[in-house]
Amino acid sequence: MPEFRTKFAEKFSGQSGIGELMDDLGAAMASGEMYMLGGGNPARIEEINRLWTARFRDLLMEEQELSRALLNYDTPQGHNLFLESLSSFLSEELKTEIRPENIAVTNGSQSAFFYLLNLLGGTCSDGIRRKILFPLVPEYIGYADQHLEDDAFLGLRPRIEETAPRRFKYHIDFEALENVKEPLGAVCISRPTNPSGNVLTDSEVAELHRFCKKRNIPLVIDNAYGAPFPQILFKEINLFWDKDVILSMSLSKLGLPSTRTGIIVADEKIIKAVSSVNAILSLATGNLGQVITHPLIKDKSILRLSHEVVRPFYREKSLKTQAWIEEYFGNIPYSIHESEGAIFLWVWFRDLPINTDELYQRLKKRGVLIIPGKYFFYGLKEPWDHRQECVRLTYSQEDETIRRGIEIIGEELRQLR
Ligand code: PLP
Repeated sequence: MPEFRTKFAEKFSGQSGIGELMDDLGAAMASGEMYMLGGGNPARIEEINRLWTARFRDLLMEEQELSRALLNYDTPQGHNLFLESLSSFLSEELKTEIRPENIAVTNGSQSAFFYLLNLLGGTCSDGIRRKILFPLVPEYIGYADQHLEDDAFLGLRPRIEETAPRRFKYHIDFEALENVKEPLGAVCISRPTNPSGNVLTDSEVAELHRFCKKRNIPLVIDNAYGAPFPQILFKEINLFWDKDVILSMSLSKLGLPSTRTGIIVADEKIIKAVSSVNAILSLATGNLGQVITHPLIKDKSILRLSHEVVRPFYREKSLKTQAWIEEYFGNIPYSIHESEGAIFLWVWFRDLPINTDELYQRLKKRGVLIIPGKYFFYGLKEPWDHRQECVRLTYSQEDETIRRGIEIIGEELRQLR
């Protein structure tokens, strides 16, 4: 077998940082009882599980609908009925007209980001290299290796506010943003943010939008955890969309990650481009997620589900996990990012005598899996100690797994002192 020689192979066939980490986590999980506080799986929520099981049962009973779903390739933009229902649902929720032409469905929002980041950033036909700007880093690890070109991303450090004893919050540094001189292709944020659980305020989003308008570039908002579904949002914000905003959504955190259903809401031109890449890379999008959720979008019961089941479930998990941290970490110096949404707590160990990579290795030996923070810092121009001082913990697991995991982390941290 000859060696791969292409740049593409160099970038995509080898191991990425997160790929290695995920293999490592997988191997550790397979080796026995582990307290899994790494990973990004949604929680098992009984009511949601029962609902999806019932929907699959209904589908099995409706032979025609099932065979229509299984037998056909949909258009590369998505399933027509789903696009229609979602467009009227989103028009109401966003209080502006969203037409089916403004929506494309992709195989997970992860692949939508591969399309978008490469459509919007990189070397352009005028010879100019336009970067994708992440105005608040740490940002979602899933973007980090997605660009076909090297050095296509620019990240900005946030301002850090101490909001309460042992609590902090990131804010966009707008002064640094205004000083960005490089040509840009887009600005991208996740809101709520994976890993920090931050939710950018309405005024931060408005300010980013103004910045993008000035530069004539789109603002990409990754809304995988946000409104109107799955609503893993613990503070009141307004969902924002405009013709020059690209809003990404997903069915994954509603408990359907295996259906691989991502949704892009954008201007027609962007939707045409996303559909075109979808056709080239995937022919069509898998439609099971669309078929399963279609009635809930049509009758809007997806809103009740998100507000009354999903949101309170995760809110309670977050509060419980913070209480366990307080109990088991005691007076060890630590600070938790304000938990405003998503399914993670982001913990900052300011005076840790080792870095969080070593902490990860030590905890793995004791059966606890966490994600060391360094993976979420990319595109930064200067080194930053903070990169080595944070960890991401998921609270989507069973209570006892989380409680015992946190207890062991507390023991390990005490031993270090
Ligand atoms: N965006 C964010 C912020 C995420 O956390 C994830 C997954 O965890 C994704 C996008 C990708 O989700 P999916 O491809 O399952 O829609």
